Amino acid sequence: MTNKIPTRIYLSEDEMPKFWYNLRADMKDKPDPILHPKTLKPVTSEDLAGVFCKSVIEQELDESTREIPIPADILDFYRAYRPSPLIRAYYLERALDTPAHIYYKFEGTNTSGSHKLNSAGPQGYYAKAEGFTSLTTETGAGQWGTAMAMACGFYDLKLTVYMVKVSAEQKPYRKALMEAYGANVIPSPSDITESGRKILSDDPLSTGSLGCAISEAIETAVKTDKCRYVLGSVLNHVMLHQTVIGLEAKTALDKYGIKPDIIIGCAGGGSNLGGLIAPFMREKLNGSSKTRFIAVEPASCPSFTRGRYAYDFGDTAKTTPLIRMNTLGSGYIPSANHAGGLRYHGMNSTLSKLYQDGYMEARAETQIGVFDAAIKFMKVEGILPAPESSHAIKAAIDEALECKKTGEKKVILFGLSGTGFFDMTAYTAYNEKTMSDYTPSDTDLKRGFDSIPDIPQNVCR
Ligand SMILES: *Cc1c(COP(=O)(O)O)cnc(C)c1O
Repeated sequence: MTNKIPTRIYLSEDEMPKFWYNLRADMKDKPDPILHPKTLKPVTSEDLAGVFCKSVIEQELDESTREIPIPADILDFYRAYRPSPLIRAYYLERALDTPAHIYYKFEGTNTSGSHKLNSAGPQGYYAKAEGFTSLTTETGAGQWGTAMAMACGFYDLKLTVYMVKVSAEQKPYRKALMEAYGANVIPSPSDITESGRKILSDDPLSTGSLGCAISEAIETAVKTDKCRYVLGSVLNHVMLHQTVIGLEAKTALDKYGIKPDIIIGCAGGGSNLGGLIAPFMREKLNGSSKTRFIAVEPASCPSFTRGRYAYDFGDTAKTTPLIRMNTLGSGYIPSANHAGGLRYHGMNSTLSKLYQDGYMEARAETQIGVFDAAIKFMKVEGILPAPESSHAIKAAIDEALECKKTGEKKVILFGLSGTGFFDMTAYTAYNEKTMSDYTPSDTDLKRGFDSIPDIPQNVCR
């Protein structure tokens, strides 16, 4: 390559962020407060104290501190696998014959295979520091469970992972990897919790959902001594931890004076997308940039593009506080034929608010088109992408092809949130052409919407 900008823009350890960036501090219109499900009043830290660690509750409720220092211990944890590579997609640009400049931030170099470790580390650290001995969580596609298993291995905590049953069956090696790090993995719905038994009695053949698994994990945490629950997406403290992605990307791009015109990320619960865009969104909010932000979600679980903006529960058993977000309803169970993650019914409240206020765009993509894009990408860039991340690839390619039509030299940055090494069942289905697309009908969605709570705050939304 004769270009001045290197294929990989490296950062030194010194250039890594020393704080997480709290985007809410720079939003004039903040996301609505989380409500207690019974009183319908904003939750207090005491309300959440039986479920989460104190430090993360503080972060969750903090909407005014702009920069939250990363504890020294976590900086060390991050240094074991960060900074993550920021790569100029020269080969993809050439293959597409586009004038656009494409960059991607690759979070799949650690063993858990995704960005999830950026929040698993801090959550393990805080649990240990606060004297807890065990944690519970849920996992869908398995990346969060693996990341948490790594963090709990590192901080010597016991971990129980409720894994969505369909994923546990499709991804036996994920389970084995979590167990190798010391975690206890239970397919969900299970018969060892009340919420699991309830779900099974309603539907004995249930293949599970993140919402079910969350109910089981919270129930176990609340009933176990010195145990807390951890969540890998959706909540604002998780997105906060993920801002290391965007802060690193921005430092690297700033070194070369590069300003992205379009930033793209896949969206499940919104944490990798939110973490990537946060420091760039800050400039859009203060009027100093016109960057476009695009969330890409699966057509089978379209919470941005077809969801309601309403107060909803985070779990199927309706035990969590109420979050105002884009949601398909906690009763929505996505089709089992959907291969990747991104199966959660709701969306981070900050991103939902930014979307409602017009600061962000969203689009939904069907599975086969996403895998077509993944194959195009991996053939030239070499990296095997996770199916989730490939949603972002699809949109990045489409935007680059648009530039080809118009001749515009736009700068596109996308988040490559993880590797696809544990998704070979899905790649096999794609290769053997047994993969199919599924888009829910309005009637399918209505079942989910009917589960959204009928509370005064949701009237006229
Ligand atoms: C979990 C996961 C996602 C989706 O979660 P977000 O909270 O939306 O980031 C996306 N990509 C990969 C690789 C994941 O593991």
